[in-house]
Amino acid sequence: MRLLLVEDDLSLVNSLKPALKKAGYAIEHADNGIDAEFLGREEVFDAVILDLGLPGLPGLEVLKRWREQSVNMPVLILTARDAWHEKVDGLKAGADDYLSKPFHTEELLARLEALVRRKFGRADNHLSHAGVTLDVHKQAVTNALGKVIELTGIEYRILYYLMMNPDKVISKTELSEHVYEEEQLKDSNVIEVYINRLRQRLGKEFIETRRGQGYCLGEA
Ligand code: CA
Repeated sequence: MRLLLVEDDLSLVNSLKPALKKAGYAIEHADNGIDAEFLGREEVFDAVILDLGLPGLPGLEVLKRWREQSVNMPVLILTARDAWHEKVDGLKAGADDYLSKPFHTEELLARLEALVRRKFGRADNHLSHAGVTLDVHKQAVTNALGKVIELTGIEYRILYYLMMNPDKVISKTELSEHVYEEEQLKDSNVIEVYINRLRQRLGKEFIETRRGQGYCLGEA
């Protein structure tokens, strides 16, 4: 899942990034409202964390502009402590959830998980297909024999995305839009390499290739 983190407090950004990465997010960071508005409009994200107090353009304005342009990804706003009106204004402007600063990272992760789940129409955090299970909360993958499978960041994100979309054929482009981070070369051809590595670990039939269309989970 690809996440846009909009926050100008760099110490907060640096403290959040490792936890978010560990939770399986590919992170793009913007430290001002103008870059944030542009990125959210031009690129694909599965969720956004949006601080409201931003240089350049206030977070509330960023959110309003996105929604006016039908940019629909789930947005969690970060508000100042006790500023109840910010929460109301944010929700009215199209935010899906909010957290007041200061917050516990664990609560942020739980709320994000819920937003992503809702986006993909999933009811719980335990994904399973053909004996393979993926626990979103623990970021743990086990194979049909119950053995824990170690995956790299991108491998995990690809598997997570495929398992969140069990009935869909996903193109290489779509996959690459949801798994790469800012510093990574967004090359959709490399996706094939990762898919083959996943097949080596989970079984050849676990992921099917649909010629000219992309990938989907194999028959269960
Ligand atoms: Ca701020």
